[in-house]
Amino acid sequence: MTVKSERRTIGDRTLRPSTLMMGLGYDPALSEGSLKPPIFLTSTFTFPSAAAGKRFFEGITGKRPGGAEGLVYSRFGGPDQEILEDRLAVWDEAEDALVFSSGMAAITTLLLASCGTGDVIVHSGPLYAATEGFIARNLARLGISYVDFPAGADRAAIDAALARGAALAKAQGGRLALIFLESPANPTNALVDIEAVAAARAALAPETPIAIDNTFLGPLWQHPLRHGADILVYSLTKYAGGHSDLVAGGLSGARHRLDPVRMLRNTIGTICDPHTAWMLLRSLETVELRMTRAGANAAKVCAFLKDHPKVERLGYLGMIEDAQQADIFRRHCHGAGSTFSLFVRGGEAESFRFLDALKIAKLAVSLGGTETLASHPAAMTHLSVPDARKAQLGITDNLVRISIGIEDADDLIADFEQALAAV
Ligand SMILES: *Cc1c(COP(=O)(O)O)cnc(C)c1O
Repeated sequence: MTVKSERRTIGDRTLRPSTLMMGLGYDPALSEGSLKPPIFLTSTFTFPSAAAGKRFFEGITGKRPGGAEGLVYSRFGGPDQEILEDRLAVWDEAEDALVFSSGMAAITTLLLASCGTGDVIVHSGPLYAATEGFIARNLARLGISYVDFPAGADRAAIDAALARGAALAKAQGGRLALIFLESPANPTNALVDIEAVAAARAALAPETPIAIDNTFLGPLWQHPLRHGADILVYSLTKYAGGHSDLVAGGLSGARHRLDPVRMLRNTIGTICDPHTAWMLLRSLETVELRMTRAGANAAKVCAFLKDHPKVERLGYLGMIEDAQQADIFRRHCHGAGSTFSLFVRGGEAESFRFLDALKIAKLAVSLGGTETLASHPAAMTHLSVPDARKAQLGITDNLVRISIGIEDADDLIADFEQALAAV
């Protein structure tokens, strides 16, 4: 491991993440005084001595927990990735973090490291489609089963799902290996009651860790570790990367939770590359600025859209009507985010006319970038989902998904106004 700039306090003041992003984990003196970390393009690292090489390998092979004492080989890690992991952990108030070549690389490495034949995963639904598919199809081939419950479920329904999962695991000779949540869920924005899941876990499955995909509100607007979750999952492609120019993933949590995942990542090489790690270091310097601006923009745009005659309704966390969902939002979230659902009056034809008329917002899937994006889940991201499941999830033909960026809010409102006029 590189020698690090570890200053996290001044006197008795703990420095905030947005300050720590400018230096934590990097010592310019080790790189010719370069203010910014270089991109370390190397496949392997030289050992100062044979004994040191042995010690470093003890970390890689798990003989010593918490990763290697020194760098060994770029499939295991490098300076850019280590600095990034230190800084990602800061945002989440986590002990440690791991970065991956995509959000799905993070998710699949976590799931494969957590489960074996006979085991059961209990998960909230819906999940990101690729996550749901990996659990239902790829893990099923390894003899791993799942039980799911709807994102808005109350304590009784969560208890029932955990009890079913535990019974199934017992019957299969396995364990209730993992509780996997996603909140808010895509594209419904339904929130999971993390505190209720943590209470249910404590009562029924105290050994089972809780992981949560925090891509939509993290790392700024939701801190699930405070509410009883153990592992946070990110597509860093979205708000953390924030410029729609990279694909990456992350996990954060306690070191003992992440160590088995690190070991599997070492074996299969799902770590992100040094260049992407460097891009993310730059992104994390502005993540608070970008998310704050995008969130403020979304609030203004939604205030305009709310009463527009061509808008049937909005699925925006800043305007929750359901009392139970509003209660979860108050307990868990510090902001409403900038990704929401717009239900156009009409069906697919009206939605397509609206999308095709947009002049500033780009027609693309994904979210969390500097630019505003719009898409049609039923015809795009969820095209292959069976109609009955779509209906159950509320994915209708008039649903347009919008991710608001950091443009001028009034320009965005002008764009939505003229596009709705074209419907
Ligand atoms: C995009 C996304 C993923 C997958 O991330 P990739 O970086 O595309 O692999 C997982 N979960 C959620 C909630 C996402 O939005």
